[in-house]
Amino acid sequence: MRAAFPWFSKKKTKQSAEDSEQRSANKPWKAFLRGAFSGVEKSARVDEAFFTELEESLLASDAGLKFSALFLAGLREELRQKKILDKKHAAIISKDLLKSWLRQGSLEFSKTKVPVIFFIGVNGVGKTSSLAKLAAYLKAKGFYSMLGAGDTFRAAASEQLSFWAKRLGLPIVKKPQGSDSAALVYDTLESTLAIKDKKSEEAVIALIDSSGRLQNKVALMEELKKMLGVAKKFEERTEVFKILVVDATLGQNSFEQAKVFHENLGIDGIILTKTDSSSCGGIVFAISHELKLPLLYISFGESLENFSPFDVDSFVEALF
Ligand code: GDP
Repeated sequence: MRAAFPWFSKKKTKQSAEDSEQRSANKPWKAFLRGAFSGVEKSARVDEAFFTELEESLLASDAGLKFSALFLAGLREELRQKKILDKKHAAIISKDLLKSWLRQGSLEFSKTKVPVIFFIGVNGVGKTSSLAKLAAYLKAKGFYSMLGAGDTFRAAASEQLSFWAKRLGLPIVKKPQGSDSAALVYDTLESTLAIKDKKSEEAVIALIDSSGRLQNKVALMEELKKMLGVAKKFEERTEVFKILVVDATLGQNSFEQAKVFHENLGIDGIILTKTDSSSCGGIVFAISHELKLPLLYISFGESLENFSPFDVDSFVEALF
Protein backbone atom coordinates (compact mmCIF):
# COMPACT_ATOMS: atom_id res chain seq x y z
CA MET A 1 0.00 0.00 0.00
CA ARG A 2 2.64 2.43 1.05
CA ALA A 3 4.77 1.80 -2.04
CA ALA A 4 1.79 2.67 -4.22
CA PHE A 5 1.47 6.01 -2.46
CA PRO A 6 4.98 7.34 -1.88
CA TRP A 7 3.50 10.59 -0.60
CA PHE A 8 2.14 8.94 2.57
CA SER A 9 4.55 9.44 5.38
CA LYS A 10 4.45 9.01 9.12
CA LYS A 11 7.63 10.99 9.64
CA LYS A 12 7.16 13.57 12.36
CA THR A 13 8.54 16.94 11.34
CA LYS A 14 8.88 19.93 13.61
CA GLN A 15 5.93 21.47 11.79
CA SER A 16 3.67 18.47 12.39
CA ALA A 17 4.53 18.51 16.10
CA GLU A 18 3.51 22.18 16.18
CA ASP A 19 0.34 21.34 14.28
CA SER A 20 -0.59 18.68 16.79
CA GLU A 21 -0.03 21.03 19.68
CA GLN A 22 -2.28 23.59 18.06
CA ARG A 23 -5.00 20.99 17.46
CA SER A 24 -4.87 19.61 20.98
CA ALA A 25 -5.33 23.12 22.29
CA ASN A 26 -8.52 23.36 20.24
CA LYS A 27 -9.87 19.97 21.46
CA PRO A 28 -11.65 19.23 18.22
CA TRP A 29 -13.26 15.93 19.26
CA LYS A 30 -15.02 14.31 22.17
CA ALA A 31 -13.40 12.09 24.79
CA PHE A 32 -15.99 9.40 24.08
CA LEU A 33 -14.13 6.56 25.83
CA ARG A 34 -13.55 8.46 29.07
CA GLY A 35 -16.65 7.00 30.76
CA ALA A 36 -15.65 3.38 30.21
CA PHE A 37 -12.19 4.04 31.62
CA SER A 38 -13.35 5.96 34.69
CA GLY A 39 -11.59 4.90 37.86
CA VAL A 40 -8.23 4.38 36.08
CA GLU A 41 -6.45 6.45 38.67
CA LYS A 42 -7.94 4.32 41.49
CA SER A 43 -6.71 1.09 39.85
CA ALA A 44 -10.27 0.05 38.97
CA ARG A 45 -10.59 -3.54 37.76
CA VAL A 46 -11.60 -4.70 34.33
CA ASP A 47 -14.96 -6.48 34.50
CA GLU A 48 -17.87 -7.33 32.19
CA ALA A 49 -19.55 -3.99 32.95
CA PHE A 50 -16.38 -2.29 31.62
CA PHE A 51 -16.57 -4.21 28.32
CA THR A 52 -20.28 -3.44 27.98
CA GLU A 53 -19.73 0.27 28.56
CA LEU A 54 -16.79 0.30 26.15
CA GLU A 55 -18.89 -1.34 23.44
CA GLU A 56 -21.76 1.08 24.02
CA SER A 57 -19.40 4.06 23.83
CA LEU A 58 -17.84 2.83 20.60
CA LEU A 59 -21.23 2.24 18.97
CA ALA A 60 -22.52 5.61 20.12
CA SER A 61 -19.44 7.23 18.59
CA ASP A 62 -20.29 5.72 15.15
CA ALA A 63 -17.30 3.38 15.14
CA GLY A 64 -19.65 0.76 13.66
CA LEU A 65 -20.60 -2.78 14.69
CA LYS A 66 -17.84 -4.49 12.73
CA PHE A 67 -15.01 -2.36 14.05
CA SER A 68 -16.33 -2.37 17.64
CA ALA A 69 -16.57 -6.17 17.67
CA LEU A 70 -13.05 -6.54 16.24
CA PHE A 71 -11.59 -4.08 18.69
CA LEU A 72 -13.24 -5.68 21.73
CA ALA A 73 -12.18 -9.18 20.69
CA GLY A 74 -8.60 -7.94 20.18
CA LEU A 75 -8.59 -6.18 23.54
CA ARG A 76 -9.97 -9.19 25.44
CA GLU A 77 -7.33 -11.40 23.87
CA GLU A 78 -4.45 -9.06 24.70
CA LEU A 79 -5.63 -8.58 28.27
CA ARG A 80 -5.95 -12.35 28.68
CA GLN A 81 -2.51 -13.06 27.22
CA LYS A 82 -0.80 -10.35 29.26
CA LYS A 83 -2.83 -11.20 32.39
CA ILE A 84 -3.94 -7.60 32.79
CA LEU A 85 -6.74 -7.06 35.29
CA ASP A 86 -6.80 -3.30 35.87
CA LYS A 87 -8.15 -0.43 33.77
CA LYS A 88 -4.92 1.54 33.90
CA HIS A 89 -3.04 -1.06 31.89
CA ALA A 90 -6.12 -1.86 29.81
CA ALA A 91 -6.14 1.80 28.75
CA ILE A 92 -2.55 1.57 27.53
CA ILE A 93 -3.32 -1.58 25.52
CA SER A 94 -6.53 0.01 24.15
CA LYS A 95 -4.70 3.12 22.97
CA ASP A 96 -2.07 1.04 21.17
CA LEU A 97 -4.75 -1.11 19.54
CA LEU A 98 -6.79 1.88 18.40
CA LYS A 99 -3.69 3.61 17.00
CA SER A 100 -2.80 0.48 15.07
CA TRP A 101 -6.22 0.52 13.34
CA LEU A 102 -5.92 4.11 12.12
CA ARG A 103 -3.95 5.00 9.03
CA GLN A 104 -2.31 8.37 9.04
CA GLY A 105 -1.20 9.89 5.76
CA SER A 106 0.22 13.12 4.44
CA LEU A 107 0.37 14.68 1.02
CA GLU A 108 3.85 14.44 -0.36
CA PHE A 109 4.33 16.14 -3.66
CA SER A 110 6.80 15.15 -6.33
CA LYS A 111 9.49 17.74 -7.07
CA THR A 112 8.97 17.59 -10.82
CA LYS A 113 5.20 17.57 -11.27
CA VAL A 114 2.46 20.06 -10.42
CA PRO A 115 0.08 18.59 -7.81
CA VAL A 116 -3.63 18.65 -8.67
CA ILE A 117 -6.02 17.93 -5.81
CA PHE A 118 -9.66 17.08 -6.44
CA PHE A 119 -12.10 17.64 -3.57
CA ILE A 120 -14.78 14.98 -3.71
CA GLY A 121 -17.83 14.27 -1.54
CA VAL A 122 -21.56 14.84 -1.26
CA ASN A 123 -23.06 18.31 -1.00
CA GLY A 124 -22.75 19.99 2.36
CA VAL A 125 -19.92 17.87 3.80
CA GLY A 126 -17.50 20.80 3.63
CA LYS A 127 -15.68 20.36 0.30
CA THR A 128 -15.52 24.01 -0.70
CA SER A 129 -14.54 25.23 2.75
CA SER A 130 -11.94 22.46 3.13
CA LEU A 131 -10.48 23.48 -0.23
CA ALA A 132 -10.13 27.06 1.03
CA LYS A 133 -8.65 25.84 4.32
CA LEU A 134 -6.09 23.68 2.55
CA ALA A 135 -5.23 26.60 0.23
CA ALA A 136 -4.61 28.78 3.31
CA TYR A 137 -2.60 26.03 4.99
CA LEU A 138 -0.45 25.48 1.89
CA LYS A 139 -0.07 29.22 1.32
CA ALA A 140 1.58 29.47 4.73
CA LYS A 141 4.02 26.83 3.51
CA GLY A 142 4.86 28.80 0.35
CA PHE A 143 2.47 27.20 -2.16
CA TYR A 144 0.64 29.25 -4.75
CA SER A 145 -2.76 27.65 -5.42
CA MET A 146 -4.99 27.98 -8.46
CA LEU A 147 -8.59 27.32 -7.41
CA GLY A 148 -10.98 25.55 -9.80
CA ALA A 149 -14.71 26.06 -9.17
CA GLY A 150 -15.58 22.55 -10.35
CA ASP A 151 -19.08 22.48 -8.85
CA THR A 152 -20.61 24.12 -11.92
CA PHE A 153 -24.02 22.77 -10.91
CA ARG A 154 -24.63 25.22 -8.07
CA ALA A 155 -24.05 28.95 -8.54
CA ALA A 156 -23.61 29.29 -4.77
CA ALA A 157 -20.60 26.94 -4.77
CA SER A 158 -18.77 29.05 -7.35
CA GLU A 159 -19.65 32.25 -5.46
CA GLN A 160 -18.41 30.74 -2.21
CA LEU A 161 -15.11 29.74 -3.79
CA SER A 162 -14.73 33.22 -5.37
CA PHE A 163 -15.16 34.70 -1.91
CA TRP A 164 -12.36 32.50 -0.53
CA ALA A 165 -10.11 33.19 -3.54
CA LYS A 166 -10.47 36.93 -2.98
CA ARG A 167 -9.86 36.60 0.73
CA LEU A 168 -6.75 34.47 0.16
CA GLY A 169 -5.50 36.58 -2.76
CA LEU A 170 -5.45 33.53 -5.05
CA PRO A 171 -6.57 33.11 -8.67
CA ILE A 172 -9.72 31.18 -9.52
CA VAL A 173 -11.08 29.59 -12.69
CA LYS A 174 -14.87 29.54 -12.83
CA LYS A 175 -17.59 29.17 -15.42
CA PRO A 176 -21.30 30.07 -15.59
CA GLN A 177 -23.73 27.76 -13.77
CA GLY A 178 -24.51 24.64 -15.80
CA SER A 179 -21.18 24.68 -17.70
CA ASP A 180 -19.28 21.48 -18.40
CA SER A 181 -17.21 20.67 -15.30
CA ALA A 182 -14.70 18.69 -17.40
CA ALA A 183 -14.06 21.81 -19.49
CA LEU A 184 -13.49 23.68 -16.26
CA VAL A 185 -10.82 21.15 -15.25
CA TYR A 186 -9.13 21.68 -18.62
CA ASP A 187 -9.08 25.47 -18.22
CA THR A 188 -7.90 25.24 -14.61
CA LEU A 189 -4.98 22.99 -15.49
CA GLU A 190 -4.01 25.10 -18.49
CA SER A 191 -3.98 28.22 -16.32
CA THR A 192 -2.10 26.42 -13.55
CA LEU A 193 0.61 25.23 -15.91
CA ALA A 194 0.87 28.70 -17.50
CA ILE A 195 1.51 30.11 -14.02
CA LYS A 196 4.02 27.36 -13.32
CA ASP A 197 5.85 28.28 -16.55
CA LYS A 198 6.01 31.92 -15.46
CA LYS A 199 6.89 31.21 -11.83
CA SER A 200 9.12 28.22 -12.46
CA GLU A 201 10.77 28.52 -9.06
CA GLU A 202 7.54 28.55 -7.13
CA ALA A 203 5.49 25.66 -5.76
CA VAL A 204 2.30 25.89 -7.80
CA ILE A 205 -0.70 23.66 -7.15
CA ALA A 206 -4.27 23.26 -8.46
CA LEU A 207 -7.16 22.71 -6.03
CA ILE A 208 -10.37 21.69 -7.80
CA ASP A 209 -13.84 21.58 -6.26
CA SER A 210 -16.52 19.22 -7.55
CA SER A 211 -20.24 18.73 -7.40
CA GLY A 212 -21.79 16.31 -4.89
CA ARG A 213 -25.36 15.71 -5.97
CA LEU A 214 -26.31 12.51 -4.20
CA GLN A 215 -29.76 12.37 -5.84
CA ASN A 216 -28.22 10.98 -9.02
CA LYS A 217 -25.29 8.85 -7.96
CA VAL A 218 -24.63 7.33 -11.40
CA ALA A 219 -24.58 10.70 -13.17
CA LEU A 220 -22.37 12.13 -10.43
CA MET A 221 -19.81 9.33 -10.71
CA GLU A 222 -19.77 9.70 -14.50
CA GLU A 223 -19.21 13.44 -14.18
CA LEU A 224 -16.36 12.94 -11.72
CA LYS A 225 -14.77 10.30 -13.94
CA LYS A 226 -14.97 12.73 -16.87
CA MET A 227 -13.26 15.44 -14.81
CA LEU A 228 -10.51 13.02 -13.79
CA GLY A 229 -10.20 11.86 -17.41
CA VAL A 230 -9.46 15.41 -18.52
CA ALA A 231 -6.84 15.75 -15.79
CA LYS A 232 -5.18 12.61 -17.14
CA LYS A 233 -4.44 14.48 -20.39
CA PHE A 234 -2.02 16.61 -18.38
CA GLU A 235 -0.35 13.69 -16.61
CA GLU A 236 3.11 14.34 -18.03
CA ARG A 237 3.30 17.53 -16.01
CA THR A 238 0.86 16.90 -13.16
CA GLU A 239 0.11 14.38 -10.43
CA VAL A 240 -3.47 13.92 -9.31
CA PHE A 241 -4.70 13.35 -5.75
CA LYS A 242 -8.35 12.50 -5.08
CA ILE A 243 -9.36 13.55 -1.61
CA LEU A 244 -12.69 12.53 -0.16
CA VAL A 245 -14.25 15.00 2.26
CA VAL A 246 -16.14 13.18 5.03
CA ASP A 247 -18.59 14.85 7.41
CA ALA A 248 -18.08 13.34 10.89
CA THR A 249 -21.65 14.23 11.87
CA LEU A 250 -23.14 11.86 9.27
CA GLY A 251 -21.90 8.77 11.11
CA GLN A 252 -22.49 5.48 9.30
CA ASN A 253 -23.88 7.34 6.26
CA SER A 254 -20.40 8.78 5.78
CA PHE A 255 -19.00 5.29 5.72
CA GLU A 256 -21.45 4.18 3.02
CA GLN A 257 -20.70 7.28 0.95
CA ALA A 258 -16.94 6.80 1.29
CA LYS A 259 -17.33 3.22 0.09
CA VAL A 260 -19.22 4.27 -3.07
CA PHE A 261 -16.76 7.05 -3.96
CA HIS A 262 -13.76 4.81 -3.29
CA GLU A 263 -15.15 1.92 -5.36
CA ASN A 264 -15.87 4.22 -8.29
CA LEU A 265 -12.94 6.61 -8.25
CA GLY A 266 -10.14 5.17 -6.13
CA ILE A 267 -9.79 7.72 -3.35
CA ASP A 268 -6.29 8.58 -2.07
CA GLY A 269 -7.11 9.98 1.37
CA ILE A 270 -9.67 11.58 3.67
CA ILE A 271 -10.36 15.01 5.11
CA LEU A 272 -12.63 14.65 8.15
CA THR A 273 -14.82 17.72 8.77
CA LYS A 274 -17.10 19.08 11.51
CA THR A 275 -15.37 17.23 14.32
CA ASP A 276 -16.12 20.30 16.47
CA SER A 277 -19.87 19.66 16.35
CA SER A 278 -21.94 17.17 18.34
CA SER A 279 -20.39 14.25 16.44
CA CYS A 280 -18.03 11.85 18.14
CA GLY A 281 -15.81 11.01 15.19
CA GLY A 282 -15.72 7.24 15.74
CA ILE A 283 -16.50 6.88 12.02
CA VAL A 284 -12.77 7.36 11.30
CA PHE A 285 -12.14 3.86 12.64
CA ALA A 286 -14.61 2.23 10.24
CA ILE A 287 -13.30 4.23 7.26
CA SER A 288 -9.66 3.81 8.04
CA HIS A 289 -9.89 0.14 8.92
CA GLU A 290 -12.40 -1.19 6.38
CA LEU A 291 -11.57 0.98 3.39
CA LYS A 292 -7.83 1.19 4.18
CA LEU A 293 -7.90 4.91 3.47
CA PRO A 294 -5.42 7.22 5.17
CA LEU A 295 -6.61 10.23 7.14
CA LEU A 296 -4.92 13.36 5.84
CA TYR A 297 -6.50 16.42 7.45
CA ILE A 298 -9.10 17.32 10.02
CA SER A 299 -11.41 20.35 10.02
CA PHE A 300 -12.83 21.49 13.32
CA GLY A 301 -14.68 24.75 12.77
CA GLU A 302 -15.73 27.27 10.17
CA SER A 303 -12.71 29.56 10.11
CA LEU A 304 -9.63 29.01 7.94
CA GLU A 305 -7.43 28.20 10.92
CA ASN A 306 -9.65 25.35 12.15
CA PHE A 307 -7.78 22.87 9.99
CA SER A 308 -4.65 20.78 10.39
CA PRO A 309 -3.03 17.48 9.46
CA PHE A 310 -4.65 14.46 11.08
CA ASP A 311 -2.51 13.11 13.87
CA VAL A 312 -3.37 9.57 15.00
CA ASP A 313 -1.56 9.80 18.34
CA SER A 314 -3.27 12.96 19.53
CA PHE A 315 -6.63 11.80 18.16
CA VAL A 316 -6.54 8.54 20.13
CA GLU A 317 -5.07 10.08 23.29
CA ALA A 318 -7.88 12.64 23.35
CA LEU A 319 -10.57 9.95 23.35
CA PHE A 320 -9.70 8.85 26.90
P1 GDP B 1 -19.79 21.53 0.28
O1 GDP B 1 -21.22 21.60 -0.19
O2 GDP B 1 -19.34 20.12 0.44
O3 GDP B 1 -18.86 22.33 -0.57
O4 GDP B 1 -19.77 22.14 1.76
P2 GDP B 1 -19.36 23.60 2.25
O5 GDP B 1 -17.90 23.79 2.20
O6 GDP B 1 -20.21 24.61 1.54
O7 GDP B 1 -19.77 23.50 3.78
C1 GDP B 1 -21.12 23.29 4.20
C2 GDP B 1 -21.32 23.96 5.56
O8 GDP B 1 -20.54 23.28 6.54
C3 GDP B 1 -20.86 25.41 5.59
O9 GDP B 1 -21.78 26.14 6.35
C4 GDP B 1 -19.51 25.35 6.28
O10 GDP B 1 -19.17 26.54 6.96
C5 GDP B 1 -19.72 24.21 7.26
N1 GDP B 1 -18.48 23.53 7.65
C6 GDP B 1 -17.51 23.03 6.86
N2 GDP B 1 -16.52 22.46 7.61
C7 GDP B 1 -16.86 22.63 8.90
C8 GDP B 1 -16.25 22.26 10.16
O11 GDP B 1 -15.18 21.64 10.25
N3 GDP B 1 -16.94 22.58 11.30
C9 GDP B 1 -18.15 23.24 11.25
N4 GDP B 1 -18.75 23.51 12.40
N5 GDP B 1 -18.74 23.61 10.11
C10 GDP B 1 -18.12 23.31 8.94
